[in-house]
This record gives sequence, C-alpha cells and structure tokens, in this order.
Amino acid sequence: MRTALPRPGLRDVEPYQAPQLDVRIRLNTNECPYPLPDGFRDDLAEAVRAQTLNRYPDREALELRSRIAALNDHIVEGTWVANGSNEVIQQLLQAYGGPGRRVVLFEPTYALHSRLTWTTHGEVAPVALDPPWRLGPGDLDRALELGPSVAFVCSPNNPTGNAQPVEAIAELAARTDALIVVDEAYVEFGGESASPLVAPRPNVAVVRTFSKAFALAGARIGYCLAAPDVVEDLRRVRLPYHVSSLTQAAGLVALDHHEGALAILDAVRAQRDRILAELPRLGAQAFPSEANFVLFRPPQDAGRVWRGLLDRGVLVRDSSEQVPGCLRVTAGTPEEVDGFLAALEEVLA
Ligand SMILES: *Cc1c(COP(=O)(O)O)cnc(C)c1O
Repeated sequence: MRTALPRPGLRDVEPYQAPQLDVRIRLNTNECPYPLPDGFRDDLAEAVRAQTLNRYPDREALELRSRIAALNDHIVEGTWVANGSNEVIQQLLQAYGGPGRRVVLFEPTYALHSRLTWTTHGEVAPVALDPPWRLGPGDLDRALELGPSVAFVCSPNNPTGNAQPVEAIAELAARTDALIVVDEAYVEFGGESASPLVAPRPNVAVVRTFSKAFALAGARIGYCLAAPDVVEDLRRVRLPYHVSSLTQAAGLVALDHHEGALAILDAVRAQRDRILAELPRLGAQAFPSEANFVLFRPPQDAGRVWRGLLDRGVLVRDSSEQVPGCLRVTAGTPEEVDGFLAALEEVLA
C-alpha cells in the first residue's frame, strides 16, 4: 500500500476552524446579527427562479461588477468580484505572490493573510506592531527592507479593531512597486477608506466584502477596487465561471437592498460602543475599535474566561494566540450583548 504525501509542511497547517457551535449567543465571527428583511428574501427567491442553471454564468460577472463599481465611484475595468474577499485575496496572491516572493503582513492581523500566502507558495514576511498597532514610519521602513512583492494592510484591523491612517498606506504605496492590498472588510463600520488611493496609485488594491456590513456572509461575495491591469491579472488566475449565477443574482438583489443593510450599521456601532464602555467596569481592558467587534483582555486567564462564557451559552473568539490574554467579541443585537455582559460578569465574579 502506498499513501500519497502532500507538499512538505501541509500537515502542520491546521484547517481554518473558528468553532461553529450551536449556542444561544454567537459572537465569534463578526457577522451582522440581523437577517436581511423579508423584501430581500422575496426578491432573491424571484431572482433565483429566473436563473437558467443549465447554462454557465456570465464569466465576467459584468452586471454585478458594474453595480459595485457605480456604488464605489470606480471604473468597472478596475472592479473585480469573487466568492468572498478571501477568494479575492487568494487570487491576488496567485497573481502577485508565489514562490520566491515575499508577502509582508503587519501583525497581529487576520490569520487568512498568512495562511493564503503559504497555500499560494509565497514567503510570509511578518512585521510586528506594538499596541495600539498604528502604522508608523519605522514600521514602513521595516516592511520595505524586506523587499516585498505584496504587502497587506488590514484597516480596521482584525482582531485589534484599530484603523490605519490612510497617509501611512499612501506613503507605503509611494515607496514601493509591491502590490499594497488593503483589506477593508470592516470599513463600513469606521475608519477611513484607502479607496481614493486606487486611482492615483495603480499598486493599491482595496478588498471589501458583503459578509459583514452587507449581512450576507452566507452568500460568499467579496470584491476588489484596483487598477485595470490588476484586474486583468486576476482574470488570468481565476477559475472559469468562478462566481455562480446564484451568487451573482444574490449580489444584485443585495445591492438593490443596500440602503436597508446600511441602516443597521448605526445599531451595530451603538452596541460596539456599549461593549467598549461596559468592559472596563467589569475589570477588563478594552481596546478602541472602529469595527463591529471589540478586542479585550479579561482580568483572568483568557482561556478560562472563554470556556466560562461558552458554558453560559456565549461564544466569543479566543484571540490569545495573536494578542496574549485577549478575547474578541462581535457587536450583536442589544439582547445578545446583554447576555454576553451578564455571562462575563458571572464568570469574573
Ligand atoms: C471577515 C473578514 C473577511 C471576510 O472574508 P469573506 O471571505 O469575504 O467572508 C475578510 N477580511 C477580514 C480581515 C475579515 O475579518
């Protein structure tokens, strides 16, 4: 019997596994806590019924890309869509990373950036930031000394919650011809967008998602605003027909209901600010956040507190591997936040 062996190191990589547990209050993956309204569901059902699934979808997803371009005041030739922003990032790395090419990450940050660098055979080049994790001139120097082909900036950053100054991103882009990928998964909640840099700086690609503010994590839609040359390169690496007709239809319906989705952003931000205000009262250190989640350091062992919350039906994210002693909680509905705060108070008592 012969067993096939995968590439060296693969079996040291843990599959991505944010726990998907059946609990009362799920605040571990930064989704929108509110489902889309009935009107959206009705329109979606109709759009799905109208699909001709015996045929391949529009390979260029042109209508969806045009609508996203218009929404962002960008040209359609520089607008790209894929199955979640993770796929956009993977495609960017397939095109601009790869063997012998360095990918700079400012850590702590979203774990998928290093994972996808590895799976696309690139070289991870981390630059560690200190709290409050704000990009400064010295960090840019360290990043550029590594000679990157790609550099990621996550703003607002996951898991820390802080946004980066656009001037720092502009300076980084001006000093290199590496591709600067700005992950703006949470930008609708706060922070300044780097999208105005895309037109003057063809080495900047802004990546966004429908998974958070658009309340559509289940549909898997992400997009990128970049120079037309970058989009041409993405067309070279994407799988043919990569965005299904069903996904394209869902994206178009979501754009029709865009105003409704944005209306709930204020409610989410209000809960985030409430968490930020309440945590210190419970003795926890809360880090300022421009996103829809809060990173915090409880006054007791993070793993024990995580477990204690779970025992009370509240699932948060254990971020202690990235930021020692810290947990991350998503801003949910007022009732979910009530439940989280009450459970935390009990655990810490
Ligand atoms: C949640 C998140 C995403 C979203 O990924 P999708 O594939 O679009 O669901 C992207 N980047 C960051 C930093 C995130 O936290």
